[in-house]
Amino acid sequence: SNKELVRRMVVLGYRGVGKTSAIHRFLEDEFIEMYYPTVELVHDQKISVGGVEYEVHIIDSAGQDEFSLLDTRYAVDIDVYVIAFSVVARKSFEMARIIRDKILDLTGTESVTMVLVGNKIDLKDQRTVTYEEAEALAKEFGCPYIETSAKTNNNIRELFVKSVSETTKQEGEAAEN
Ligand code: GDP
Repeated sequence: SNKELVRRMVVLGYRGVGKTSAIHRFLEDEFIEMYYPTVELVHDQKISVGGVEYEVHIIDSAGQDEFSLLDTRYAVDIDVYVIAFSVVARKSFEMARIIRDKILDLTGTESVTMVLVGNKIDLKDQRTVTYEEAEALAKEFGCPYIETSAKTNNNIRELFVKSVSETTKQEGEAAEN
């Protein structure tokens, strides 16, 4: 395959936010109301963005908390970091910043290509994180914010397309300089 059209994406976030469910919804168009602690898995999927087909390796991480060390393999060769939280779990939102800091530490950079995702928006009545504050955090990170529901299939495809398109944006900007 054409190496230039390969993208490596890692999905990070506190346990239980719906990382596996979102990936599963995207790949199989299915939602399973069940929680299996994730062992890292890589899925390959073709994703078209702007008429160009990319081969995307989606890495479903085992999940992070404040004490876990980020796998050093996530320091190299990752084109986009997807940091997911649940809009009904305040702690998972706070974890997003901690995870980003860990990525910056690991990569030794000041910014990385990433997308912030608030999942479980179908649980409207239980929300503890507002759209506005999550968007403000993304703005601070300099990345897009997208809200999803793996359960109702809201914005799931958009999330993956957006994540790939972020990687092409960077290249375009680099080429201009
Ligand atoms: P992970 O640990 O981040 O991979 O989380 P999972 O994908 O295993 O999901 C954890 C739990 O949240 C499971 O019981 C899922 O069924 C549930 N879940 C995941 N996404 C959603 C969602 O969008 N809405 C609702 N209501 N539940 C979800």
